Amino acid sequence: MSARKRTPTHETPGAGAEAGARGERVEPARAARDLRRRPVPVIFERGAPGRTGYSLPASDVPDVPLDAIVPPAYRRAQPAALPEVSELDVVRHYTALSHRNFSVDEGFYPLGSCTMKYNPKINEDAARQPGFARLHPYAPEELVQGALQLLWELERDMAEITGMDRVTFQPAAGAHGELTALLMISRYFEEKGERRTTVVVPDSAHGTNPASAALAGYKVVEVPSDRRGNIDLEALRAVLTPDVAVLMFTNPNTLGLFEEQITEVARAVHNVGAQLYLDGANCNAILGITRPGDQGFDALHLNLHKTFTTPHGGGGPGAGAVGVKAHLVPYLPVPTVERDGQRFLLDGDRPKSIGKVRAFYGNFGNLVRAYTYLRTMGAAGLREAAEIAVLNANYLLSRLREHYDLPYDRVCKHEFVLSGRRQRDRYRVTTKDMAKRLLDYGFHAPTIYFPLIVEEAIMIEPTETESLQTLDAFAEAMIAIAREAEADPELVRTAPHETPVGRLDEVTAARKPNLRWRPET
Ligand SMILES: *Cc1c(COP(=O)(O)O)cnc(C)c1O
Repeated sequence: MSARKRTPTHETPGAGAEAGARGERVEPARAARDLRRRPVPVIFERGAPGRTGYSLPASDVPDVPLDAIVPPAYRRAQPAALPEVSELDVVRHYTALSHRNFSVDEGFYPLGSCTMKYNPKINEDAARQPGFARLHPYAPEELVQGALQLLWELERDMAEITGMDRVTFQPAAGAHGELTALLMISRYFEEKGERRTTVVVPDSAHGTNPASAALAGYKVVEVPSDRRGNIDLEALRAVLTPDVAVLMFTNPNTLGLFEEQITEVARAVHNVGAQLYLDGANCNAILGITRPGDQGFDALHLNLHKTFTTPHGGGGPGAGAVGVKAHLVPYLPVPTVERDGQRFLLDGDRPKSIGKVRAFYGNFGNLVRAYTYLRTMGAAGLREAAEIAVLNANYLLSRLREHYDLPYDRVCKHEFVLSGRRQRDRYRVTTKDMAKRLLDYGFHAPTIYFPLIVEEAIMIEPTETESLQTLDAFAEAMIAIAREAEADPELVRTAPHETPVGRLDEVTAARKPNLRWRPET
């Protein structure tokens, strides 16, 4: 393998603003990259036998033999080989690791279907207020009136934004929200004495949709998309039988396209007595513009950790909100937050509820962050965010469309999907190769190979929080890579060249990870 190291060169067609943008980007990206390239030993290599990171006062209670507490059969024969490190070792270790990570605070992160927008720091300020952060979940209602008021108001806001009647914040993520809603819908049909066995999903759906349906005990039926990227209405009608409980639908869908026949879709679903569910993980394009409740949806989930600026990307905690129309309200998880005059209270006495889906009230800190976001944006601000998200996506689309294949050529919403088919067929350079090459330019890669209906998919979501300079710098990198694919395909095929580790055999890396920074040790 000839892993030639080469620094990306940017061929800029225009000058002026673009050259400025280039200058602004390259230097910080390089500084961050240099920091990331510094080797970081594993924590076991930092310590020394006997070194500790704590000091405790002498015990003032009598010693108890270990055997009296934990019988030898349940104890390990040798002490666990834990790292023996000082507090400073630990701080340096994790600080160094944090520099090797990529985050939205550090660079552009156009990961489609993930809405990696900036998370305003004022959200963190609010969530860290001791009055919120230090509440005990078992504190009595009269001592947590402010927290309950926040939950109550956030629920009203989300209901207004989505056109739903009530909202629960218990689910810990989007997929958890899907399951919660499906369980509520099951209970609804059970109560009506209807046995419905099937959930319908379009072929462009996020993988969590069929997974949640299967987990809730449903059979999953897939419906194809048509040539414009809408659901194939005839195919949908053909599978809509009285067995169908739910159509799980994403709008705008994962192609970033608004469903042009949403009214017909809703009518067809309701005609067979089924429920229309919105996968609202990515609502960035519709805030303040259109409401799922008005489009005919009966239930939905929102990802507060995507659309509503609570952080994500490190594996949690997330926050899924589930909104429902009035007929599903009795099945909401308990407790709900209610208001009686000036007093807020928890209502756990809801006989038709599906019960709890998570301890207490969900990831409360993220709810404070989402609340802060709504309060700082206001209604007009949310609409503006949606408009700019759509504008930014269409701007990038217009800059990239001649350099990559565009399978669905329509005005997009918050994201769009290109295809690397041309580069694969002509130069044997895949989407994965090009995504890896983007890392050398200091950008996080877009989502690739999703949605599944687009060959060599490249799914780009810039979000509203990025400047024109950043969008231009990214567009130039993507254009430069398209040219490299043609002029020097081997360079792209062997990328990345500038990251701490180069191209990995991903299967071996996952199955037999070698975490040591000196391979010989
Ligand atoms: C992210 C996402 C989900 C799942 O959300 P999680 O919080 O990761 O469980 C579902 N559907 C779509 C369209 C998504 O983008």
